[in-house]
Amino acid sequence: MIKKYGMFINGESIFTDETMPVLNKYTQEAFAEISVATKEIVDQAVEAAKKSYKAPWSPYERFKVLKRVSELLLERKEEFAKILAIEVGKPIRESRVEVERAALTLEISGEEAKRIHGDGIPVEAAPGSENRMAFTIRVPVGVVAAITPFNVPLNLVCHKVGPALAAGNSVVLKPAEVTPISAIMLCELFKEAGLPKGRLNIVTGDGPNIGDWLLANRKVNMFTFTGSPRVGELIRQRAGIRKVSLELGNNSATIVHHDAELEKAAALIAQKSFNNAGQVCISVQRVYVHSKVYEKFLSLLKEKTEQFKVGDPLSEETDIGPMIRVEEAVRVENWVNEAVEQGATIVTGGKREGAFYMPTILANVHADMKVCRQEVFGPVVSVDKYDSIEEVIEKVNDSDYGLQAGLFTSDLSFAMKAAKEIEVGGLIINDASAYRADHMPYGGVKKSGIGKEGPKYAIEEMTEERIVVLNL
Ligand code: NAD
Repeated sequence: MIKKYGMFINGESIFTDETMPVLNKYTQEAFAEISVATKEIVDQAVEAAKKSYKAPWSPYERFKVLKRVSELLLERKEEFAKILAIEVGKPIRESRVEVERAALTLEISGEEAKRIHGDGIPVEAAPGSENRMAFTIRVPVGVVAAITPFNVPLNLVCHKVGPALAAGNSVVLKPAEVTPISAIMLCELFKEAGLPKGRLNIVTGDGPNIGDWLLANRKVNMFTFTGSPRVGELIRQRAGIRKVSLELGNNSATIVHHDAELEKAAALIAQKSFNNAGQVCISVQRVYVHSKVYEKFLSLLKEKTEQFKVGDPLSEETDIGPMIRVEEAVRVENWVNEAVEQGATIVTGGKREGAFYMPTILANVHADMKVCRQEVFGPVVSVDKYDSIEEVIEKVNDSDYGLQAGLFTSDLSFAMKAAKEIEVGGLIINDASAYRADHMPYGGVKKSGIGKEGPKYAIEEMTEERIVVLNL
């Protein structure tokens, strides 16, 4: 039985005749259908957002709604986790963690709604301004268009919707067309929690079309986007003089120094290279190991990787599920084959079955192979060696990206040097690159994006600072 999901505009569900199937990523069969938005529907959603934004909505009321949705999400954790396992192909245990984190993101956003504040500005210090006083306030930007990727379709939606609503904005959400169901279900929870009509609208369907229509609509005041650098760049170009926040890709590096706890490093790197089949923006992709411990580390990493169970995302035993599309698994297969032709060796993995790509470790790699230079976004990790601290910092920085990096060492001065010199938004010491607490500032440099997420930081992006000067 294929369930039909509508859009959510001005508090109402809207269905269209034209629909798109959503596949169960394990069986590759359609399990749901979504409505396909037209330009008129997108404009209607923006209009509803604009209108609702003008109505008063106090910070305490915003807090209450966000807190309630967070509670409802936890009450329905299993239902949401199952949908994530089906629509993403994410193992059920990992899917439950995503639901818990999404609930926390909304709870923190709700808390932040009560703490949005400006600063006192000592204008009286300027000659001639002795009789003046000033302070700033933070005001919402207005209508926020939120465009989200397929890989973490619930928590990344919460990272946009939570702060946007907490700050007093209205939202038009466009989830990824391959994984939209958890986002639509979330909108239903917002309705149940008493969200004022029009504050959150969801439009589904074709990404490029909806993107075009949102970008063309001048009533949208800000774009918050998480996804590929290609689309991020396009949004940045077309947004004009409007706010844009971009969370983009990465080819994350993690360093294992000779003084690291190798067992711990291998276990964490194995887990964080292959979580969600490597389809995580901070997934470990490049590992640099000091040559003194290279062989030992590589055999530990191989041992840990070969323990993972690949299979049905709904099974409690599964560690790694399918990739999002068969075509994506084929792309990864081609990149690995190309690397092998260029001299890389497969330590383990290197095989594909439909949308499944086996967790793969590559050795004897060089920086210009696609598997190192570009974002793999699949279950492939490359392991390289280094001899000096200077050399490894240079290798890590030899990337167009800069989201997060990891470093295993007990040498404090190396750790501090790395903190200053590695070009990333976040350095994780004694863990792999893929660590995130939902309230920390999160965002990259270089091609990894602009702006920060984490509710407090996203609220700064999603508000304008206005100065108020009193002439006494
Ligand atoms: P994608 O760029 O293909 O799609 C992201 C969203 O953009 C989808 O909703 C899609 O429908 C929409 N879209 C597609 N074309 C568009 C257009 N022309 N205009 C406007 N919107 C358009 O990305 P994806 O494949 O869903 O996600 C994978 C990418 O996301 C990877 O690069 C990954 O690193 C990145 N990502 C980054 C973070 C982060 O926090 N930095 C987190 C998760 C994923």
